[in-house]
Amino acid sequence: MAWRSSGSSNQSLIDNLEKNGLIETKRVKGAMLQVDRAHYAPGNPYDDRPQPIGHKATISAPHMHANACESLLDYLQPGAKVLDIGSGSGYLTAVLANLVGPTGKVVGIDHIQPLVDMANTNMAKSEEGRKMLESGQVKFVTGDGRKGWKEDAPYDAIHVGAAAAEHHKELTEQLKAPGRLFVPVSDGWSQHIYVINKKEDGSIDQNRLYGVQYVPLTDAPE
Ligand code: SAH
Repeated sequence: MAWRSSGSSNQSLIDNLEKNGLIETKRVKGAMLQVDRAHYAPGNPYDDRPQPIGHKATISAPHMHANACESLLDYLQPGAKVLDIGSGSGYLTAVLANLVGPTGKVVGIDHIQPLVDMANTNMAKSEEGRKMLESGQVKFVTGDGRKGWKEDAPYDAIHVGAAAAEHHKELTEQLKAPGRLFVPVSDGWSQHIYVINKKEDGSIDQNRLYGVQYVPLTDAPE
């Protein structure tokens, strides 16, 4: 699945993701077309696979970014507020910002300061990105994402870009009702994507989706 969607340009990568059924909606396609992955991935940006970005982190594969957006899409309406935990390169933060539009807000949080700096630099490579940073539509902060980010809570949607050992309670607490959390969770030797819904009455349901391989959510390095 990963390799078949690779392209020679941003456009062809995204066309291939759509052709292979990994992008399912026009909204996600449009949001991904507006972000050049070359501004975020240091090498082979149009390959459908993760790339190292330093500090033991990777920019996730484009098909994972596409699936995260598709899974959260009902909660990524114009004006929505979103938290992107383990924002790394800042790529997905930018795509999410396109989905929620100028009246929405996306907070990217990472615990490695040089990666937070890199995300800001990457986003500032385009005119659209600079505008999003200046207006506050996108903000990158430094902190332990396992605790979420209270300052801007509650969120319509929370995306976690690193594997958690559990569904951290703080994260569901910081969801609106209704709201949705997308999180890779380690269960023993394997990891699976969980989609957790907070319903209007505040009750929680969870769905275990497919198996994945993410870098873990960890303590901050010394
Ligand atoms: N969505 C990012 C994924 C980066 S990899 C991208 O596609 O570019 C996972 C990221 O999670 C790394 O940048 C790592 O620094 C971050 N991370 C790991 N543990 C964390 C924690 N406890 N709090 C915040 N960020 C964390």
